[in-house]
Amino acid sequence: MNYDYDLFVIGAGSGGVRASRISGSLGAKVAICEDLYMGGTCVNVGCVPKKLYVYASEYAGYFRDARGFGWQAPEPEFDWPTLRDNKKAEISRLNGIYDEILGAANVEIIKGRGRFVDAHTVDVNGHHYSAERIIIAVGGWPFIPDFPGSEYAVSSNEVFDLDQFPKRLAVVGGGYIAVEFAGIFNGLGAEVTQLYRGELFLRGFDNEVRDVAATEIAKKGVDLRFETDVISIEKLSNGSLIVHLSTGEALIVDAVLYATGRKPKLTDLGLDNVNVALTDKGFVDVNDQYQTSEPSIYALGDVIGGMALTPVALEEGMALAKHLYNNEPCELNYNNIATTVFCQPNIGTIGVTEEQAKARYPNVVKYRSHYRAMRHNLGGSDERSMMKLLVDGDTDKMVGMHMVGGDAGEIMQGFAVAMRMGATKADFDLTVGIHPTAAEEFVTMREPVVD
Ligand code: NDP
Repeated sequence: MNYDYDLFVIGAGSGGVRASRISGSLGAKVAICEDLYMGGTCVNVGCVPKKLYVYASEYAGYFRDARGFGWQAPEPEFDWPTLRDNKKAEISRLNGIYDEILGAANVEIIKGRGRFVDAHTVDVNGHHYSAERIIIAVGGWPFIPDFPGSEYAVSSNEVFDLDQFPKRLAVVGGGYIAVEFAGIFNGLGAEVTQLYRGELFLRGFDNEVRDVAATEIAKKGVDLRFETDVISIEKLSNGSLIVHLSTGEALIVDAVLYATGRKPKLTDLGLDNVNVALTDKGFVDVNDQYQTSEPSIYALGDVIGGMALTPVALEEGMALAKHLYNNEPCELNYNNIATTVFCQPNIGTIGVTEEQAKARYPNVVKYRSHYRAMRHNLGGSDERSMMKLLVDGDTDKMVGMHMVGGDAGEIMQGFAVAMRMGATKADFDLTVGIHPTAAEEFVTMREPVVD
């Protein structure tokens, strides 16, 4: 059977671009379609603009602390349109780079929404494109629950580009996006209230990490309200919003950001025309080779419901391309994937939580350090950091590492390599520290703690 392409990829986000680019460079004839923006969530409304906004918000602390280091300057003012528009220009630049790298790998870019016609055919703008194999890499989309006034809430898709800076912001949710944006807008000078329905935010992270993060975030001025949900939102004639809470209280704010999770973006994909099974949570079900129940159709990235992280989608795209067009085994190891929440201070984590470690290993040895980073001694910030190591006492292997503190994302990456290589506590002890750094604390913890 002759097809137009060897591979047709639906969705030009992190995973789709990587799979198509590597497949193209391995000699496959590849096309990719995208109806929104090149680079997907990460580049346009996720990791990249988020990190730029985190940088922007951190300046508030630097300006404040600079006085302790001898710098005298008038109170600086923050200008939202400058940040927003500079961000837009940077994202446009990155969109162009995506076009270029795909072009360099001979991947044809088709602008428009892809819909399955059958197991080997995709319709884009009324044209039918056939391919031996098709990859679903459509990612996810923010989910906002339905309640009275939910139409006044914005999601992480819109929050980057608000016309006006929200001087008073309510953030709903207790996951990555909620804590990151609460920190961003707090740093930029907004009055931020974060509302989370459960007892303590960041469910799934190490409990001590969650506690320390909550303390530090509250110290920085975010009004954290746990066991609190939104009942309704009303709009006033002056444009302000009243948020009615489950506690009986109400907040008056300029904007409400809902960060209550993301769903796979499968609507209008023509899935009725193919035999692609979904999991009970509505994600595309795949085997270890990212193949769906329709043998010619594959799926990867956020749409398969694993760890919704860009580097994971990139690795999946790379592994699948090499498997399909270079005969390599598809063996991605999902253990010990490091992750960082870019809240302020950062949370960095690798491996298991203390709760998981205790359930999995009979003899867990724990090391922990609380400290005030050196720069704060002159800067004056009362921010404190926490680092923690979890060791399987029977094998001496490091099974969990956690940090709440400045630059945790940067610090943890190198330790992730060590953990992947099976580092033991003895290896950490034999490693000479880099002085003076915060990271050296990880190799100088000697005394186990018992809580
Ligand atoms: P998460 O799934 O991480 O968190 C969703 C939050 O919303 C949870 O606290 C959840 O509460 C709460 N929630 C869910 N439904 C409701 C509801 N109906 N009413 C009230 N609260 C609700 O989603 P995010 O949107 O924060 O992020 C999506 C994913 O994107 C992350 O899981 C992560 O994989 C990725 N991401 C990664 C980043 C990074 O690497 N730094 C940054 C941003 C996103 P509960 O805990 O009770 O279920």
